[in-house]
Amino acid sequence: MTERVPYASLYENDPVYQMAVNQLRESANILGLADDVVEVLRHPEKLIQVKITIKRDSGKLETFLGWRSQHNSALGPYKGGVRYAETVTPGEVVALSMWMTWKCALAGLPYGGGKGGVRVNPKTLSLRELEELSRKYFAAIAREVGPDIDIPAPDVGTNPQVMGWYFDEYSKLAGYPAWGVITAKPVELGGLYVRVISTGYGVALSAREAARKLFGGLEGKTVAVHGFGNVGIYAAKYLAEWGAIVVAISDSKGYVYNPKGLNVENVIEVKAKTDAVTNYREEGVKVSNNHMELLELPVDILVPAAIENVITKDNVERVKAKLIVEGANGPTTPEADKVLHDKGVVVVPDILANAGGVVMSWIEWSHNKMGCFLTDEEAISRLDKMMTLNFNRVFDEWQKKYSNYPMRVAAYVIAIDRVVKAMKLRGWI
Ligand code: NAD
Repeated sequence: MTERVPYASLYENDPVYQMAVNQLRESANILGLADDVVEVLRHPEKLIQVKITIKRDSGKLETFLGWRSQHNSALGPYKGGVRYAETVTPGEVVALSMWMTWKCALAGLPYGGGKGGVRVNPKTLSLRELEELSRKYFAAIAREVGPDIDIPAPDVGTNPQVMGWYFDEYSKLAGYPAWGVITAKPVELGGLYVRVISTGYGVALSAREAARKLFGGLEGKTVAVHGFGNVGIYAAKYLAEWGAIVVAISDSKGYVYNPKGLNVENVIEVKAKTDAVTNYREEGVKVSNNHMELLELPVDILVPAAIENVITKDNVERVKAKLIVEGANGPTTPEADKVLHDKGVVVVPDILANAGGVVMSWIEWSHNKMGCFLTDEEAISRLDKMMTLNFNRVFDEWQKKYSNYPMRVAAYVIAIDRVVKAMKLRGWI
């Protein structure tokens, strides 16, 4: 008889998944959760794998694999983007769906966590091929998603046009225009103009609220923004509008620094025209081609809004900011996080600071479902109210109950506690 090999699921050996589980275990220890509850939380409720075969423009068939992970629905329908990248694995998709569960719970949204992915480099596809792939992926998962079941959105490698095809494919199968099945749709299909600013706006708002708590306000505080894309641009714009002095801005080519303050609107214009902030000139501005140096400037507030792992054990001792607000996902390594906490630097974690996108998605979804029209001002004001209220709740709970830990650990603990309480109230555990 053949000996049976212990079974590891599609995702259990994946390092990204293991990182998510370690984080869960650390928070579960602080909360005193039993191992059997952690076992419930570490697996997705459902993981769907689909095969997508398209006909390339050459006439040849090509087959791709895709997934949708539905991690937890205790608080509401699953919510999370779909990623197109050659590096996508089921483990990564499950981990990202778990992080969405915590992010939505922390933001106080009536959503659970989900995430999708297709292992494909979208840049290698023609527009027609991309459309065929997107429609077939969505048709393959259509029975498992829906406005009250699971609501996808864009992520790395997908965009509002892809969302338009998803929406159309689902609506054809459902037999009615299902506005609520997707968020961050094109504006013409019920999306919101202000979706594009929402993550950066939320980052600025988190900095504003943290500055109120720590320094009595933003007014006159100096800020360096690392990364000047969708998140960095709007974070810098609103911070400057609200009285902070944005002194440094970088992109991948370098940074510009003016201790007296940069004119953010003009930097945005130069970036849009030339694709490099280093082309910006004004009196007193210093230009460097090493964007990493920006992280070490003498400023009050640092906003990393580019990529992951930029504040590490190698440069953390030289970081001078007293407040770091994470616009990017994972810009601070765990070792650096500990050093910053020991130095008394407050790090507002990504899971809290960059939730503006998903909060705006909830605003879009709830209005689509009611068939209501929303002005840009109403949408922004709702985002501001929701995030401000929630930021202060999380900050106060951190200070009251978990101040021995970095704010990041407290954020995870609060989020997991919210999910576990909902599961208990529903009688699941
Ligand atoms: P983006 O592509 O619009 O901009 C990225 C910026 O970072 C650009 O200025 C680019 O020059 C810079 N950059 C890219 N690679 C770099 C490198 N190797 N070194 C230094 N700088 C580099 O991206 P975005 O949408 O602004 O996202 C930025 C971060 O925020 C990512 O971590 C993303 O996951 C996270 N995030 C984005 C959203 C959103 O709604 N866009 C939501 C949540 C989290």
